[in-house]
Amino acid sequence: RERRLAKLKNLPARSTDGVEVALKANIELPEDVALVTEFGAGGVGLYRTEFLYMNRSEPPGEEEQFEAYVRVLHALKKKPVTIRTLDLGADKQVDGGRRPDGGAHTVNPALGLRAIRLCLREPDLFRPQLRAILRASAFGPVRMMIPMLSNLDELHQVLALVKSVKEELSAEGVDFDPQMPVGGMVEVPAVAMAACSFARHLDFFSIGTNDLIQYALAIDRVDDDVNYLYDPMHPGVLHLIANTIRAGRQAGIPVGMCGEMAGDPRYTRLLLGLGLQEFSMHPSAIPEVKEIIRESSYAEAESFAQQLLACL
Ligand code: PEP
Ligand code: MG
Repeated sequence: RERRLAKLKNLPARSTDGVEVALKANIELPEDVALVTEFGAGGVGLYRTEFLYMNRSEPPGEEEQFEAYVRVLHALKKKPVTIRTLDLGADKQVDGGRRPDGGAHTVNPALGLRAIRLCLREPDLFRPQLRAILRASAFGPVRMMIPMLSNLDELHQVLALVKSVKEELSAEGVDFDPQMPVGGMVEVPAVAMAACSFARHLDFFSIGTNDLIQYALAIDRVDDDVNYLYDPMHPGVLHLIANTIRAGRQAGIPVGMCGEMAGDPRYTRLLLGLGLQEFSMHPSAIPEVKEIIRESSYAEAESFAQQLLACL
């Protein structure tokens, strides 16, 4: 089986009727790029940059972040790298559990000041990262991705900050890609329901099912006692996913998924049939998902997905 899967490495993830999807890798540190190449990923669909901030007392500066991103870009040899802005807070704490802003623990950290909320509150934390990401975009295809978006105001704030950092870099004569795509993660159920409003202002969507399911089903993803309720096939969850894909496709932006569900072979055909265009997962999961896609007919998967949606 191993050998059979290894043979797929350089083959496209294309269905029997010719629909091709992208299979990309989730990484946490620049060292992970070795696995990305080993399993033949078509790029990085989720670079969890917060790991550079964890297990140390001082946050990395702009230069260290820039170097880490360029390292990944070089290793990927012109394949796209999706850099997610800091997703600190909740299950990813820095400095022994203290909030990065030095605040006290909150009762519901998953619903608190985390990810983009924290970054917008602390521009001194966020701006150096935005500069590092934009500077890196001069060295290869970078896509920037915003975690935990919950409303349009946050999105407009991020876009305004990106614009201002671009102006700053231009004034300094520093190179960057002026067209760098900015996408959003769909992790909050209300965003999945109103996906069409967000799609108008974003260049791509990526569905973060780990958080989306946690919030949709009210299940703390780090609480073992309620793990058994965690269900990607819950009809409510499927509606949220289907609506996001539909809205993205209608707006003409690519829709991917980077939560665990994207790398679970039990859901590959369904997601293909719902029209998902990019699957991002732990690199080692790629061969098996690719094999399923290569053995599937898109037309059949689509008709199955439509029938399933109709009975939810
Ligand atoms: C997710 O929520 O599905 C996701 C990919 O983000 P993380 O697991 O890093 O929260
Ligand atoms: Mg998440």
